[in-house]
Amino acid sequence: MTMPLYVQGGWFIGALLFIFGLKGMSSPASARQGIVTAGYGMLVAIAATFFIPGLQNLALMLAALLIGGAAAWISGKQVKMTDMPQMVAIYNGMGGGAAAAIAAIEFAKGDAHSVVTTVLAVVGALIGAVSFTGSCVAWAKLQGVLKKAWRLPAQNAVNVILAVVSVGLGVAMIGCAPAEPVLILGFFVIALLLGLVVTLPIGGADMPVVISLFNAFTGLAVGFEGYVLGNPALIIAGIVVGAAGTLLTQLMAKAMNRPLSNILFTPMVASGAGEAITGTMKEVNALDAAAMMRYAAKVIIVPGYGMAVAHAQHKVWEMTAILEEAGVEVKFAIHPVAGRMPGHMNVLLAEAGVPYDKIFDLDEINAEFGQADVALVIGANDVVNPSARTDKSSPIYGMPILDADKAQNVIVIKRGKGTGYSGVENALFYTDNCRMLYGDAQPMAGEIIQHLKTLG
Ligand code: NDP
Repeated sequence: MTMPLYVQGGWFIGALLFIFGLKGMSSPASARQGIVTAGYGMLVAIAATFFIPGLQNLALMLAALLIGGAAAWISGKQVKMTDMPQMVAIYNGMGGGAAAAIAAIEFAKGDAHSVVTTVLAVVGALIGAVSFTGSCVAWAKLQGVLKKAWRLPAQNAVNVILAVVSVGLGVAMIGCAPAEPVLILGFFVIALLLGLVVTLPIGGADMPVVISLFNAFTGLAVGFEGYVLGNPALIIAGIVVGAAGTLLTQLMAKAMNRPLSNILFTPMVASGAGEAITGTMKEVNALDAAAMMRYAAKVIIVPGYGMAVAHAQHKVWEMTAILEEAGVEVKFAIHPVAGRMPGHMNVLLAEAGVPYDKIFDLDEINAEFGQADVALVIGANDVVNPSARTDKSSPIYGMPILDADKAQNVIVIKRGKGTGYSGVENALFYTDNCRMLYGDAQPMAGEIIQHLKTLG
């Protein structure tokens, strides 16, 4: 059916807003505006859809909008910053599931489509279904509902068999369109199972990359189904998400120095038999830590997941301002996978008001640790673990790390002797130049501030 110009125009404006929204998200300064712009794009695209002539099931559409909108509004308001990755995973899964559902309805209707349209519908359905169950598993793992990494005997062979069978059934559906219901059902069951089986063995530390990959899948699935429905807003939104997700997946895999195939098919587990760590952990109190930084020329702060948990970013910025006032040069070093989602630390620091010109990526800052008097590690662990450079048995071996150990002195704020996300011991904490300041990051930063004020 050819759509009236006003519907096409609405979708076009929606698509333009998605693109401008994504452009806005490319910098922390404009990211908030970008997400709002993309939201308006979605609103315009949905509104335009209601003007399609002869639209049926209006009540059902409104009910779905109401239920989905309310669930998203409430969960969006309540979600904690640290739980954001699981939220992204589950929303992403819903997108993939929706794309697969669109395809399922089209197959069930049995309408005649061109071969190209049927091929795209099948491909979109396959990757949408895989993304749906895979994202659900990713959510369950990050939420702590699923604690175990399930690995089948001959896991990779099972993955390949399921992939081949689902593609085979898809080809059969294209070959004998309109397909029999039993064939459609078999195809979806195997595709859903494939997403489940591929994702279950993947460890939590690799989950962000996997979520990003499924995000790209969902985008592609939505784009393909947009073609099937003749909806350009869906095609453009899907392609934009697919391209952004693919780039992000590549960037994250590079930041962890692990090829994507390795992340998907080789489990990341702490063997427990790593390089022997020598030395002892040495404690420091807040007064001495404050004095070390107050009389330093240069301090580099390395924030990590613990700073997010403790909501310590505001105190950290207050502490920075006092140090700068006293003439100390302070910089922030951000690892690409610090925290629990891409850009996690940048978002928190921006929220606290830290200017962007004080925040540096790993490549920009690593050479400067050697000239720093103090590296202050706040709630970070894996991203400063030097055994990633040398210990081949370590699950984080090969991951580029922030060279905090190269600073004259290292102060680490953390609550106790807990390991990082990967579960491995950190050799940095045992080095001669490292001191541990035990406590929750927020009150500890508060104590340092008090001492800095008395030191003048
Ligand atoms: P880690 O998870 O390695 O370490 C965080 C440390 O913070 C812990 O050792 C913990 O020690 C400490 N901590 C926790 N709560 C507090 C608190 N309230 N106050 C002070 N310290 C606290 O964090 P990193 O940021 O260094 O590394 C990120 C890890 O997460 C990497 O392994 C990465 O692969 C993975 N990951 C990254 C994602 C991303 O996209 N950025 C997403 C998901 C995982 P203690 O318990 O002793 O306090």
